[in-house]
This record gives sequence, structure tokens and C-alpha cells, in this order.
Amino acid sequence: MKNIVLLGSTGSIGTSTAMVAGDLLGDIRLVGLAAGSNTELLASQALQFRPELVSIGSPEKAAELRPRLDGIRVASGDEGLIELATLPSADIVLIAIVGTAGLQPALAAIRAGKDIAVASKEILVMAGETVMAEARKHGVRVLPVDSEHSAIFQCLEGRAPESVRRLILTASGGPFRETPIGEFAGITVEQALKHPSWVMGRKITIDSATMFNKGLEMIEARWLFDVPMPQVDVVVHPQSVVHSMVEFVDGSIVAQLSTPDMCLPIQYALTWPDRAASDRVQTDLAAIGRLDFEAPDLARFPALGQARRAGEIGGTLPAVLNAANEIAVDAFCEQQTSFSGIGDAVGQVMDRHEVIGQPTLGEILEADAWARETARNVLGLG
Ligand code: NDP
Repeated sequence: MKNIVLLGSTGSIGTSTAMVAGDLLGDIRLVGLAAGSNTELLASQALQFRPELVSIGSPEKAAELRPRLDGIRVASGDEGLIELATLPSADIVLIAIVGTAGLQPALAAIRAGKDIAVASKEILVMAGETVMAEARKHGVRVLPVDSEHSAIFQCLEGRAPESVRRLILTASGGPFRETPIGEFAGITVEQALKHPSWVMGRKITIDSATMFNKGLEMIEARWLFDVPMPQVDVVVHPQSVVHSMVEFVDGSIVAQLSTPDMCLPIQYALTWPDRAASDRVQTDLAAIGRLDFEAPDLARFPALGQARRAGEIGGTLPAVLNAANEIAVDAFCEQQTSFSGIGDAVGQVMDRHEVIGQPTLGEILEADAWARETARNVLGLG
């Protein structure tokens, strides 16, 4: 039995994780849950799973929850997240909080000797070097939740790093794979929120449409698997059945396949190194029929080039890329910039940044704050 703390339990990954926990009641137990603002869903999850501790964004919401959750402790805010991340009974802390709020809890969990399962890509994009160094120091695992990284993790298992030629991340290409570049400026929020193969939270869905998501995943893969950036490649695969691949030095390519369903990589992160029986994901290759691959169009999706540049230069630049993109995505959702304005703003903020190599966590957080402010200025948001 593994005890799991789930940060971001009310989101897309969080609710899938709750489903997995419901499927595997004899194997995993949710001992802690955290959400930002959704008191209703957090309350019903807490009553279903009876964790030791739950936490919600504000003290006011915590006060609302307490009378409804007899016998379950209720904390709030950043302190609540840290308390959950270091909960003595927890074996794995799964971090599925959107944005940067998961970084400090991730480090706290590692320092408390917990394995972490990472959905929130911001953690490794911003501070991959620090997080992986801390994990090595404390002898804990960083387990991937993202389907692409889970696929690579499964393909790599047991292989020596010298045997790897390159990691090949697959990308669906998003809803605008075939949209002429001249129409990009007119793309609406509603169009960008319709992903062809995955149902996900709002931010990651927009990031999939711009392919920023794949860019962030390239940087994440670089740290997670300790592979230099030039050895991380992207191929467009519209069916999202091959979740990613590893090419070995002998030219052999190993892939992991299934119909797209986040429950599978989530379950693998929580049961690794074992596989638990589950009928939830069924893959009928004959019905799928064909698997297509094509090179990504770098002119249409500047995010891929920007992320490669950020990953190669390193230091504070990946944190700047990530923060500028978050502000630009929000601006797009609020109709304050166009779809192509997202990449333009990120490029301008990156160009203005003076990179600090081998930054401390404080310097990373400062670069993050600087990039947010600069992105607001670039976008004319004051
Ligand atoms: P959602 O927007 O669906 O959910 C975000 C979760 O974070 C919610 O539970 C939200 O709570 C919670 N949250 C936000 N701020 C705080 C806070 N300060 N304290 C505690 N909880 C907070 O996002 P997704 O589930 O789609 O994505 C989560 C992360 O996983 C992202 O980094 C994303 O890139 C990554 N990811 C997602 C995938 C997917 O398929 N969705 C695939 C791979 C990675 P509330 O709703 O109550 O406010």
C-alpha cells in the first residue's frame, strides 16, 4: 500500500488521479489533498477518500470546509501545501497544481525524503537542475506523470544513458496543425480551447494549440532524463497513440502506445515499478488503423524554437520563457492579445533578459517575477 498526497486534486489531472485511486483501493491510499478554490469538489473527494489532511487556497475557504469534514484536518494557503508535501505518512507527493505554486512544495517533499510524481511541468522547466540535484542528494525519485515523459520513462527502463541516441517526444500538433499561418492572428479563445485528442485544463490546452506545451516538455525531458537538449526531438503524431519514443545508439526505436487517457501514466507513476491490473484503458490498434508522423512546422509554431533556445542556454532563461508564456496565455484568454501575440510577447521578453547561469532558487524566482512584469509591459497591460 502506497500513501499518496495529491496537490491540485480538483483539476484535470487531480480528478483523473482520484479515479485511479478509486480503481486501486487495495494498492494506493490518498492521505492528503489540496485544491485552490473548489470547495465543493474538495469536500466530496475528502468524504470519499477520508485523507488525514486537506488544504485549500484561502483561510476563509478552509473555515467553510471544516464543519463539513468532521475528523479531517483542514489547512490553507502555501503553509497548507508545505504541510501536505511533508506529511509524515506520505510515500509519494503528486504535484498537479497549475503554474508555479507547485515548486516550493516539490522541494519541501524531496527534502522530507518523499518521492515526487510531477505533472506540473513548470517545476522542471523553471528549476530542473535544482530539483534533480536535490532529488539525487536525498535519494528520492522524480516520477513523470505527463504521458510523453511516462512513455520515455517506460522505454528507457533499465537502459544505460550511453545507449540513448535521442528522445523523441510526440506532439498531436494541436487544433491548428493544418491552419494556414495567415489565419493565426484571427484564432479565437474558443477555437484554441478545442483540443483534437486530449481533455485538459485551460492553460495546457492553449499551450497545446501554440505548441508551447511541447516546448516546455522538451526542457522537462532534458532534466528528467539528464539528456542534453540537442538529443531531445519532437515529431508530430496527430493520433496521440504513440506517447513518445527513445532511439538507441544502434538505431532501434522503442515506443509506448495506448489510446490517450491520462489515467494510464498517472497509475504507472503511482504503482511503479509494478503494473497494477486495470481495464480502464483499452487500445484497439486495428480500429485506430494508422499512425502518422510529420516534422513540426517551426515557422508556424515559434514556441518550439524558443523552448529549444531556452533549454540550450539554460540558467534563468527557461523560467523566463515559462513566466512570459503564462502572462501571454492569460492575456489571450482575456482577449488582450491575439493568438500569434503569445509567441511574439515571449520572444520579446526572452530577448530582453540578461541570463544568469547556474542560478539559485532565489534568482530563478526573481527572473520569474521580472519576466511576468516585462511580459505585462510588452503586452501593454500596464
Ligand atoms: P487544471 O487547471 O485542471 O487544475 C489545476 C489544479 O491546481 C486545480 O486543482 C486547482 O484548484 C489547483 N490549484 C491552483 N492553484 C493552487 C494553489 N495555489 N494551491 C493549491 N491548488 C491550486 O490543470 P491541469 O490538471 O490540466 O494541469 C495541472 C498541471 O499538470 C499543469 O502544470 C499541466 O501542465 C500539467 N499536465 C496536465 C495534463 C493534463 O492532461 N491536464 C497532462 C500533463 C501535464 P481549484 O480548481 O480548486 O482552484
